[in-house]
Amino acid sequence: MTNPTGGEIRKDLSGDGRYGASRGHRKHLGTDYVGSPGQPARQPISGKIIRSIRAYNDTAEYRGVEIVGKHMTVKMLYVDPYAELIGKHVDEGDFIGTVQDVTLHYKNPQPGDQPHVHLEVVSIDPEYLIFNKAFLED
Ligand SMILES: [Zn+2]
Repeated sequence: MTNPTGGEIRKDLSGDGRYGASRGHRKHLGTDYVGSPGQPARQPISGKIIRSIRAYNDTAEYRGVEIVGKHMTVKMLYVDPYAELIGKHVDEGDFIGTVQDVTLHYKNPQPGDQPHVHLEVVSIDPEYLIFNKAFLED
């Protein structure tokens, strides 16, 4: 999997960007990679960008994509995708859109909040794990 921004994992006063980090009663189900607003974001896995999605219900401004690869489906948020790529297969590592500044949407912004891309595995093919011996020999 390719880091979509090339940045580090976010850690700021508004949240810890690691998978499993606490979000009050929930846990964070993705990984947040720090990026600069306007920078191009990379496709994390090879696969088809099946749709553009809203990152929030209350606004259409913040976007993301859902990508279906050979072994897994992922979603990526706070990226405004290039419209011509929706519905197309894109190779891992290619640029697919621009990083947005999600911190502008925060209701209680904190000093040093880091714009980032959220990357989350939505589902994974069990055969990928069963037939990948590296996972079973642990
Ligand atoms: Zn996140």
